[in-house]
Amino acid sequence: MVPLRSEMTNYQDIIEELYHKLLERKNVGEVADYIPKLGKVDPEKFGICLTDMDNIHYSIGDYDEKFSIQSIAKVLSLCLLYNKKGEEIWQRVDVEPSGTPFNSLVQLEADKGIPRNPFINPGAIVICDMLISEFENPKKELRDYIRRATNSKNIHFNESTAASERSNGFMNIASINFIRSFGNIQNKLDEVLDLYFLLCSIEMTCIEASQAFLFLANEGKCNHTGDTLIIKSRAKRVNAIMLTCGFYDEAGEFAFRVGLPGKSGVGGGIVSILPGEFSIAVWSPRLNSKGNSHRGMKFLEEFTSATSSIF
Ligand code: GLU
Repeated sequence: MVPLRSEMTNYQDIIEELYHKLLERKNVGEVADYIPKLGKVDPEKFGICLTDMDNIHYSIGDYDEKFSIQSIAKVLSLCLLYNKKGEEIWQRVDVEPSGTPFNSLVQLEADKGIPRNPFINPGAIVICDMLISEFENPKKELRDYIRRATNSKNIHFNESTAASERSNGFMNIASINFIRSFGNIQNKLDEVLDLYFLLCSIEMTCIEASQAFLFLANEGKCNHTGDTLIIKSRAKRVNAIMLTCGFYDEAGEFAFRVGLPGKSGVGGGIVSILPGEFSIAVWSPRLNSKGNSHRGMKFLEEFTSATSSIF
């Protein structure tokens, strides 16, 4: 039998070495203050947790502190819907990298209200609309699904973060109206936006975030319970979308530098997976000009080089 990479690599030593190395380097970028509540987060937080296929955690720094996972949650809302509805969802949202910022409206007109992919804001908003059509209590379904993936009941929406974002959510309000004008929203706009902002408000620690994504490294099955969260062929497709569309208009750069499927959020988190091996979450709130965690990207770039982790 081929040994697991975790049997050959001392993840804890590598994580610790890179963590200290990056702490010595200047940290640059800004926190996402367009969501007023996120603007108050300590920009120097830095946490890491890798979970391997034996559910062993390797962690350092602020790994056990909750942060706002923001767009990272869009992967989980997609999985819930895709697992339930299958391929028909692709009639309403595409799977192409956008090459534009996460909140951009420019392509929606030419694409007639079909968002380029489920991870940019317009795409995640359409996914929320489909969740509302599909489930009687979409908020509870979403929370319970994410709890199952994380194998923890300690996962909550943060209503005050959602309200803070809503107070300044003009681009998302513009997006949903634009998409609606093409007929690609079927429920009340306020109801869809409420679900979208709640989705983005979920908080996790790095341990929980790495745990939550481990099923995507495990052919769609929860590593703790054996529960199928998404069928294998669909887990493969979600990973492909993470690889091509997970980092806004920097998706190519992340694939080039890190080489793994992943998803970032403007809270400064990044989660990335290596199928059959591990899931890793990094949190560092200072964002680069594309909205991705500056230190998080650097860490993962050096981590995959140091461990020869190849997708
Ligand atoms: N809630 C954020 C927004 O809609 C999510 C952005 C992100 O993390 O990419 O702007």
